[in-house]
Amino acid sequence: MEEILKVNGLSKQFDDLPVLDNLSLSVKKGEVVVIVGPSGCGKSTFLRCLNGLEDIDEGEVLLGEEKVNPNKKNLSRTRERIGMVFQSYDLFPHKTILQNITLAPIKVKKRKKAEVEEEAIKLLDRVGLLSKKDSYPRQLSGGQKQRVAIVRALIMHPEVLLLDEITAALDPEMVREVLDVVLSLAKEGRTMLIVTHEMAFAKAVADRVIFLENGKIVEEGSPEEFFDNPQTDRLKRFLKTFSYEK
Ligand code: ADP
Ligand code: MG
Repeated sequence: MEEILKVNGLSKQFDDLPVLDNLSLSVKKGEVVVIVGPSGCGKSTFLRCLNGLEDIDEGEVLLGEEKVNPNKKNLSRTRERIGMVFQSYDLFPHKTILQNITLAPIKVKKRKKAEVEEEAIKLLDRVGLLSKKDSYPRQLSGGQKQRVAIVRALIMHPEVLLLDEITAALDPEMVREVLDVVLSLAKEGRTMLIVTHEMAFAKAVADRVIFLENGKIVEEGSPEEFFDNPQTDRLKRFLKTFSYEK
């Protein structure tokens, strides 16, 4: 299948701290890549480099044929093509759910309000939140707000979606409703890079799992290989820390 995202020899440091070390990765259209690794290993920085939120010291990120370069004018176009959802949903508190979702497509993409609202309503319905369209963020639970944040990313029609620990701040009973939405996106063939600590979910959703440590890919494989037959001692130890959970 067609390659959509390619990372060649990406390195990044903050002052004297090396965070990403000559990292290379290639993602095919429709592929779901899950990235796991200990806290501070560079997962968020990696995703942020992919959509130009961080600049890169060395290497390159290619989206299709186009180079992602934070210093260039095409940066806003890159952000449209690569959507990102974070742990904190960052909805505008004084705007309704519908307004939160339709703001960027109307302002940035200059699309017609009626058409955007129609699409927003379909997407809200899909994630089970149509009844909340005129509510304000404070009237929603964390899980509901995170589903709105996903819709807000989807309505920009991104070619790649980056999800950075999107359930990490949620109460356990809300994790499921958000992960179910992500699973349904995977099933419809969306290209996604997902950082998560939910290992059962990772196993269910991933085409490929990557273990990142000290800014390097230490091990990668299919979910079966990765979780059932880890090769490196480091990954074995990492996975053990999750075996007492829940
Ligand atoms: P992860 O998401 O895997 O927990 P991060 O990518 O957030 O890791 O961070 C990797 C390392 O880079 C950490 O040591 C973190 O403290 C450091 N770091 C992240 N962002 C910055 C920043 N803006 N300035 C300085 N150091 C940073
Ligand atoms: Mg992080």
